[in-house]
Amino acid sequence: MPDNSSARLLDGASVARTLRERLRTETQEIRRLGAPPFLRVIVVGEDPASMTYVSSKTRAAEDAGCLAETVRLPGTTAPQRLLKEVERANRDDAVDGILVQLPLPPGHDARRVFDTIDPVKDVDGLHPENVGRLVQGRPRFVPCTAAGILALLDAYEIPIEGANAAVLGRSEIVGKPVAALLTSRNATVTVCHSRTKELPAVCRRADILVVAIGRPGFVTRDFVREGAAVVDVGINRLDTIEQAPEHLKQSPRLRDAIARRGRALVGDVDFDGVCRVASWITPVPGGVGPLTIAMLLQNTVDAARRRREGHILKS
Ligand code: NAP
Repeated sequence: MPDNSSARLLDGASVARTLRERLRTETQEIRRLGAPPFLRVIVVGEDPASMTYVSSKTRAAEDAGCLAETVRLPGTTAPQRLLKEVERANRDDAVDGILVQLPLPPGHDARRVFDTIDPVKDVDGLHPENVGRLVQGRPRFVPCTAAGILALLDAYEIPIEGANAAVLGRSEIVGKPVAALLTSRNATVTVCHSRTKELPAVCRRADILVVAIGRPGFVTRDFVREGAAVVDVGINRLDTIEQAPEHLKQSPRLRDAIARRGRALVGDVDFDGVCRVASWITPVPGGVGPLTIAMLLQNTVDAARRRREGHILKS
């Protein structure tokens, strides 16, 4: 954790708690219109990290007063069978939100799966119709991590309009949607990736730096402008200190975590170095992760509200 001379924490866990509290009230309102919001999660295979994420999501949904159901399909499931399961959830009038947990086992085409989800139940925001709406500035469902990053910046009143923002990583689930959201809020956005030249210098121009690349401790203090807000999306698991990059191997915090728990979760940012130059920084864990779940619940509640209100208007 930072000392007095270092960045202030963007405490995602605390912001997520407040959001989830508000969602509980919204869920009660929806119950007055009909059934509680219903999230169906489809998971293929037994990837341990996916299992953990899925159970955190369904537990959080239930805690917010939603119904949550997990359909578990074996790792050997054929791609057509998965698409049929998605179509079954599309047709099921009780289901408000559908989430297909990533990554899918080899042989599945994630894009085809997202193309198949009914866009009004697409709480992950990855159907092309929802991606298009986001880019056009009239979002319906925004991918949860990207929405969570904006919620975190807003909770701490980090100025976005007119700011220089750099987004490191251009994935469909984080980099691209966060760049679209920052653009729609009038930041000047540079999207960086593995072919970007002079990456540290480009990132150093940013007032807001969002990092989502999946490389432990990659972003060192050389990438960061003094006073910047740094959002670290990366979640990298290290089981031994040897798996850490050279510059993190001497980190007492990391060595201690691995010694005590046999593993450590680290972000894409070298926290100890960067917190000495940044003004704001997210911890890992406890930064963006809890907001991703809160935004999934927000999308599920929004889906339910739209569907209930639509039914009422039609009847
Ligand atoms: P991804 O699909 O793996 O894409 C990685 C991106 O990083 C790509 O755009 C890639 O560039 C870029 N990249 C990789 N190495 C780079 C390098 N050395 N220099 C510059 N750019 C580089 O990423 P993702 O799915 O967005 O995940 C990123 C990280 O965020 C992972 O650690 C993941 O676990 C974490 N994550 C966390 C949450 C959460 O809730 N906290 C949610 C989602 C993801 P190219 O496009 O050129 O290949």
